[in-house]
Amino acid sequence: MKKLAGQDRTITTTWRPATQAIRGGTARSHYGETSEALFLTSGYAYDCAADAAARFAGEQKGMTYSRLQNPTVEMLEERISLMEGAEATRCMASGMAAMTAALLCQLSAGDHVVAGRAAFGSCRWLTDSLLPRFGIQSTIIDARDTEAWRRAVQPNTKLFFFETPANPTLDIVDLAAVCAIARENGVTSVVDNAFATPLLQRPMDFGADVVAYSATKMMDGQGRVLAGAVCGTEKFINETLLAFTRNTGPTLSPFNAWVVLKGLETLDLRITRQSENALKVASWLEKRVPRLLYPGLKSHPQHALAMKQMRAGGTIMSLFLDGGRAQAHALLDALELVDISNNIGDSRSLMTHPASTTHAGLTPEVRAEMGVEEGMLRLNVGLEDPADVIDDFDRALKAIGL
Ligand SMILES: *Cc1c(COP(=O)(O)O)cnc(C)c1O
Repeated sequence: MKKLAGQDRTITTTWRPATQAIRGGTARSHYGETSEALFLTSGYAYDCAADAAARFAGEQKGMTYSRLQNPTVEMLEERISLMEGAEATRCMASGMAAMTAALLCQLSAGDHVVAGRAAFGSCRWLTDSLLPRFGIQSTIIDARDTEAWRRAVQPNTKLFFFETPANPTLDIVDLAAVCAIARENGVTSVVDNAFATPLLQRPMDFGADVVAYSATKMMDGQGRVLAGAVCGTEKFINETLLAFTRNTGPTLSPFNAWVVLKGLETLDLRITRQSENALKVASWLEKRVPRLLYPGLKSHPQHALAMKQMRAGGTIMSLFLDGGRAQAHALLDALELVDISNNIGDSRSLMTHPASTTHAGLTPEVRAEMGVEEGMLRLNVGLEDPADVIDDFDRALKAIGL
């Protein structure tokens, strides 16, 4: 179906996710531009006072204020919905704004949450430190153990919250089984899908209720902007999430939305090639380090489950050295091509030491429980020639005597 200049957006739901990533949600202005327009505006003018009143009353279509609506942000929301197979999406200023909103919009004092123990450091802070201040208790479990989810359910359990693959331990959660337990118990499942993106894994196909993203990671994927998104049913987005985000304001800037729209155009190419590169690097590296976890390798204890849920292994692996923090830092310092950086999903190869960076805010006990060891390093493989990444590791490992 053609989208003509000045027409409302055409929603073609039959296109496959890789096509949606390029074309989904495009709304052209009367100029008929091919690339999405950037509407850097905070407000909108009305033809007459009655129009303003009608728009505020919800009786007239149109935008009122960019904390509530923006044409560029809406294109991104529509595109992510179409890629995800979700009824609706709301974009946020960052991944953490998305996670916070996805939880707080539906939880109240007295509610209970079950969450996976391996999680992005700030996600663990939400369940361990923020929610209890508002009278919301959490049970933290080994998310790989499907029956542990069932055992943790209490009469007041409202929500399951987990990542798969998890950051940085690469734990895999059985999406179909855990989301089914949530449904049986009237619990909402919230899945942080930052590592996989809808092009490698669509949690809603396995029964997830809400999918939340850091779009900073693969979706931008070129290290430029922070962004986040929450996907769900129209009812959840419009009746539960929208009131929270409109009034608390974790709004995505139209400029950042535009950058992510451009990023999505190449997401399929990037994530496919980066996963291929990661598999090559992981296959080589696992022979050179004491232990390595990558979902795409047969040596990953949950490889079969990962491959059932994911189209490829993704861009991220974790490796473990025997010499603790000192040796992990020494390897980072010896690398020349691979940057020391805590971002992931970037087109550059980046490596970080989670215990002293992304997970440094957690207590040593929580880190140990999560499996974030002192000798652990997390590697994001980028778009460089993987032979150069391997050469860099070969030289750096030799330099530190490995
Ligand atoms: C990075 C990340 C987040 C937070 O996203 P920001 O965009 O940095 O706020 C949340 N969850 C996971 C799994 C992440 O990797």
